[in-house]
Amino acid sequence: MRLLPGINSFKKYFPKNVEFEGDGVFMTFLGTNCTLIRDSKNSIIVDPYFTRPGRILGVNYFVKRVAPNPHTIRKTLNKIGVKKLDAVLLTHTHIDHALDAPEVVKQTNSVLYGSSSAMQIGLGGGLDESSLVEVDLEKTYKIGAFRIKFIKSVHMPFPKIVEPIINFRTTVPKVLVPPERIANYRVGEYYKIQIEHPYGKLLVCGGGFEEHAVNPKVDAVAISIGGLALRSVEYREKLFEQAIVSSAAKSVYLTHWDKLDRSIDSPAEFLGRTHITVKHFIEMAGRNKDIKVFIPPIWTTTRLFSPKRRTFIARLVHRIGL
Ligand SMILES: [Zn+2]
Repeated sequence: MRLLPGINSFKKYFPKNVEFEGDGVFMTFLGTNCTLIRDSKNSIIVDPYFTRPGRILGVNYFVKRVAPNPHTIRKTLNKIGVKKLDAVLLTHTHIDHALDAPEVVKQTNSVLYGSSSAMQIGLGGGLDESSLVEVDLEKTYKIGAFRIKFIKSVHMPFPKIVEPIINFRTTVPKVLVPPERIANYRVGEYYKIQIEHPYGKLLVCGGGFEEHAVNPKVDAVAISIGGLALRSVEYREKLFEQAIVSSAAKSVYLTHWDKLDRSIDSPAEFLGRTHITVKHFIEMAGRNKDIKVFIPPIWTTTRLFSPKRRTFIARLVHRIGL
């Protein structure tokens, strides 16, 4: 049997792991689609999923009941030194994005931003209205120096045979009190999230290609590649063009590449044949010399954006205190 390539086959594409200190915008990858975005004052987390309650696909998807594990969540937050967060943002409400969100909000005295389905999960997890924000697509949310905008998007299509079963119903219609069936964590509205900071602009996006979508211009994209190995080469090419080339991003971070059922503390393995997608993204980025592709290992903190260099005049104005 030939061994499939592991994450360490792509060491060349690991971003530089740095300490979270000093000025700048930092991103820590925490497995699945979870990224922690921080500057020196504020912290935001996207799609936390630390509990990892074993196997969630196959028959488990319909029969197994799951609940967040407060101990695992606390341990993970401690490991990355997070006591307080300003916001927990949800791209959608499948279990591997939304299960832990209410408990993370509780433990970090934070606020949950997401769809109406995310609100049902928040309420079921014991949050009250004061820590829930149902996203308004017209609004820009200010969190310190960050400006957050949610953009309506689509989930990557599932294989035809499972799509009608998984998406039989698409929203969470009632308050969801865990332990709940995995299938009841339905997709809800799906969002791309634009996170703008004076030092740079990041787009967090999924693997859904949309025929006529126009992405905002950004400096970096964090793209969820889970399941993309099941899509055609042509699909991935169109997605790359839309999500990365047309958004003018210079850096691409591949997320959601790891197996969903492994504990966050175990050595990570690729989800299915995701190494195919990684190779393909590297090849597509290689055709465009301005685009750098990174695959962050779990726990890696990378400096996403540095302070903008001041012009001579701006430095002078700053020095004389004008
Ligand atoms: Zn999903």
